[in-house]
Amino acid sequence: MAIRQIRTIGDEILRKECKPVKEMTPRLKELVEDMFETMYETGGVGLAAPQVGILKQIVVIDVEDGNQYVLVNPEITETEGEQTGPEGCLSVPGKSGTVTRPEKVTVKAFNEDMEPIELTGEGFLARAICHECDHLHGCLYVDKVEGELEDVGEAEEEE
Ligand code: ZN
Repeated sequence: MAIRQIRTIGDEILRKECKPVKEMTPRLKELVEDMFETMYETGGVGLAAPQVGILKQIVVIDVEDGNQYVLVNPEITETEGEQTGPEGCLSVPGKSGTVTRPEKVTVKAFNEDMEPIELTGEGFLARAICHECDHLHGCLYVDKVEGELEDVGEAEEEE
């Protein structure tokens, strides 16, 4: 396992569309492990492959609910309600902004063994799923922010 370098805003790769994964290879499994390690090292709760420079539809999430979610080729199939709150991103260091997201989302995806899965998340998990899936389509939360971006302290958790 290895810590990978996180690409930050201004890097063109963050604005590109990611390709679906056709098959899980040892290399991609290693990427998933590295993504978790990189996310934990940097204090994030989610990380998308383009953030480490790989244009594949892979997301990892750990919002400290006891699960390590791996979402390959995720597709949000249902949304419900609305929540407005602060959001941050490892690719936009030191900043936070207010974003409105669905309160509840259901996502269809594959796990790291390419088995189909379905995940429904509410609250913070729903926010993380939306935020990370956006990364796979070249979208950053700053595109959706309401008002100004604010400076945050180093200790704040970022997605
Ligand atoms: Zn992000």
